[in-house]
Amino acid sequence: MLDFSDKQTDQYLPTISESELSDEDVILELAALKSELKNEVVVLGHHYQQDDVIRFADVIGDSLALAQKASKLKHPHIIFCGVHFMAETADMLTSPSQKVILPDLRAGCSMADMANEHEINKAWKFLSEASSKKIIPVTYINCDAKLKSFVGIHEGSICTSSNARKIITWALNKGDKLMFFPDQHLGRNTCFEMGIPLEQMVVYNPKIPNGGLTFSDVQNAKVILWYGYCSVHQGFKREHIDLIHKNDPNMKIIVHPECSFDVVSAADLNGSTSFIIDAIHNSPAGSKFAVGTEINLVNRLAAQYTDKKIISLSPYQCLCTTMYRVRPRWLLASFRAIKKGQPINVISVPDKIRKDALMALDRMLLNS
Ligand code: SF4
Repeated sequence: MLDFSDKQTDQYLPTISESELSDEDVILELAALKSELKNEVVVLGHHYQQDDVIRFADVIGDSLALAQKASKLKHPHIIFCGVHFMAETADMLTSPSQKVILPDLRAGCSMADMANEHEINKAWKFLSEASSKKIIPVTYINCDAKLKSFVGIHEGSICTSSNARKIITWALNKGDKLMFFPDQHLGRNTCFEMGIPLEQMVVYNPKIPNGGLTFSDVQNAKVILWYGYCSVHQGFKREHIDLIHKNDPNMKIIVHPECSFDVVSAADLNGSTSFIIDAIHNSPAGSKFAVGTEINLVNRLAAQYTDKKIISLSPYQCLCTTMYRVRPRWLLASFRAIKKGQPINVISVPDKIRKDALMALDRMLLNS
């Protein structure tokens, strides 16, 4: 259950029912309202959104691209078709007079929910007691605004999968050790590619006392990874790669670094959502890819590049169910409310959190 109790959000409201409006009429009304309100409303869409939402997006991108774009927008209303932490980030990067709207407030991120402020503070206290070395905290952008504020206060930064290597390099130049949360896989995969051996990485599990670590574990480690993961990307397994290689040795395996170390190590290529899109776009006709990322994006790439063979790495549907909560009906409800002058589901990060979180976001944008 997502807890938005301490965030200033308008009331969650029920959507437009199917008995009130058919799917076809939802699309028609959305198209009309989008055109009518084009000077007032901009729609941002994350790559993992479903096609019927993406068709209404003015800007499509991954977390980094959408954050960078949000900081330059002038429209009074920004509808963010993504998940909660993305809308929070956009809110912090826009002016107080602009309203950022998340069409469905239940669109959270299971990975972001794996680390909260209390747990992070407790871990920080333990790590600081365990080692006198300077630890720099870096959080993946997939987290609550309070954790972005935490890294802002503690001289750390935020990263996305596009800039993780740059930000971790920056952090390790600034301090002796890295604390990376909430995604252990992105942290491990990136640090390993940077030449840090696995033996110098430990995992802090907030569900067990002291994260399951001793003082000497912390003293001997270069990197402390949080025990968090993306349930979608963790669904890709090494056996899926073996099966695909067995059936078609010419199929290239390309995966997101939120996949496990096992999967990333066995893949031909790995990188952020933008990296995956660019690699497929720039490949010659006839190329074949098995892709380890969210299924809406994989299906869209397959439909777009008909001269290439693009399939999901997993035989099972790797769908981000929280992204999937944003439906055209919800988008329409957001547009109708803006037209009435009473926007709903407005995301507003409190000032006391925003100030320090922005400091961390600025460090990320500066070092990207
Ligand atoms: S794909 Fe994974 S990390 Fe991305 S929003 Fe969904 S649950 Fe979160």
